Amino acid sequence: MKKSKQEIYKQQINWRKTNPDRVKESNKKYSKNHPEKIREKAEKYRKKHREQIKNYMKKWRSLNKIKKNKYSKEERYRTKIKVFTHYSGNPPKCLLCGFNDIRALVLDHVNNNGAEDRKKFKTPDCLLRYIKRSNYPKEFQILCANCNMIKEYIRRQKV
Ligand SMILES: [Zn+2]
Repeated sequence: MKKSKQEIYKQQINWRKTNPDRVKESNKKYSKNHPEKIREKAEKYRKKHREQIKNYMKKWRSLNKIKKNKYSKEERYRTKIKVFTHYSGNPPKCLLCGFNDIRALVLDHVNNNGAEDRKKFKTPDCLLRYIKRSNYPKEFQILCANCNMIKEYIRRQKV
């Protein structure tokens, strides 16, 4: 019985589906032996779908930007929790008054050399990463914003 064109086509598709490795291999061989044809085809495709490609790239970039931003935001938060927990326990709290809302907790320099570090590290995140990297140096403590301000106030009065 002779197979119809459609049947043969269907069979070929099926074969490609069940033998992905062989398809890959033969594609590889073809592109190696006919580099100019592949280039031509790609060029043609690019010309024909210029707008689509442009839109796709734009979408991809913005999607991945969101993903990247979201990821680094989470990563930053995780680092903050880790560092704060290391210095003040779980959950992180102020060394002086015990206040424990992380939104108003700050990393305080025991020796008051925060200005130097702020110059050295462009953002607070850089400092947090540095602390983690250098295995939590002893010169830091966790204070709440109030206690931190009071400490600073007393220090300035002394000077
Ligand atoms: Zn406090």
